[in-house]
Amino acid sequence: MPSRRSILKSALAGLFFAPSIVFAKAPFADLQAPGFYRLKIGSVEVTALSDGTISLPLARLYTNTSEQHAQGALNDAFLPELVPTSVNAFLVNTGERLVLIDAGTGTYLGPSLGKLASNIEASGYKLDDIDDVVLTHIHTDHSGGLMSNGKRTFPNATLRVNEREAKFWLSAANAKAATGMVKQHFGEADQCVTPYVEARKFETFADNAAPVQGLGSILYGGHTPGHSAITLESEGEKIVFWGDITHGDILQFDEPGVAIEFDIDQKAAVAARDTAFMQAVEGKYLVAGAHIAFPGIGHVRKDSTNFDWLPINYG
Ligand SMILES: [Zn+2]
Repeated sequence: MPSRRSILKSALAGLFFAPSIVFAKAPFADLQAPGFYRLKIGSVEVTALSDGTISLPLARLYTNTSEQHAQGALNDAFLPELVPTSVNAFLVNTGERLVLIDAGTGTYLGPSLGKLASNIEASGYKLDDIDDVVLTHIHTDHSGGLMSNGKRTFPNATLRVNEREAKFWLSAANAKAATGMVKQHFGEADQCVTPYVEARKFETFADNAAPVQGLGSILYGGHTPGHSAITLESEGEKIVFWGDITHGDILQFDEPGVAIEFDIDQKAAVAARDTAFMQAVEGKYLVAGAHIAFPGIGHVRKDSTNFDWLPINYG
């Protein structure tokens, strides 16, 4: 075994005789490290997974406010006009089952997203290992990653969705009646969810019921009819996977009455956010947002401007 002194000596030698790479002009790398963040909730392992980010003109998408006011609030928080907005999913290893909560965008929303599958692998799991995929709701940024190259991305997983959410999106009559962006979402829901139905790998859960053993759900309808948060409790610790209770981590905390164009029922979405915020404040539990800056995990507390988002301390 080399002595400490000899290790130090060879390290120093390396330093002095290394080529002058320090001074080389290198191209910009322009890449982040693999996007996963891991924590324990009691005896359960949770992995936050990044599907990537998308630059959104949030001030223009928010409603119940003016674009000017919303942009001012974002600027005050040092955010640009096009706000890099995270798309997060979460993997829960209960010890019994490996459950993915939300499935990312797949190929639907451009190359800055669609990184969920590679980040699952980078985090040490295989796509085949996943037993269940639970969706907070069926919107393309949560369900687009269910399929890749015409195949189910998670071949062994059962897809689990709130019953009224499934009924709404899988109804041919609703799809026919829809217009604009919502009509497009119906088409994409059909492409991504129907293959699981056809493979008999699809189950629904009732309002506020357990989607799978070890997890619970809370119906927070409005953003979509069956939009549901997924809850996890273990050994006195708790996390609630919020889905789309907020878009971004600034304006909707200070002004929870602000809705977003993607909400199917904006009034109900605002009411659901109020409830979710109050419950998180009172319960003092961790929450995990699909569109809060990665890893999207933190706490909510009351402050002089309604609510405040406190990201989890990195560790
Ligand atoms: Zn979303």
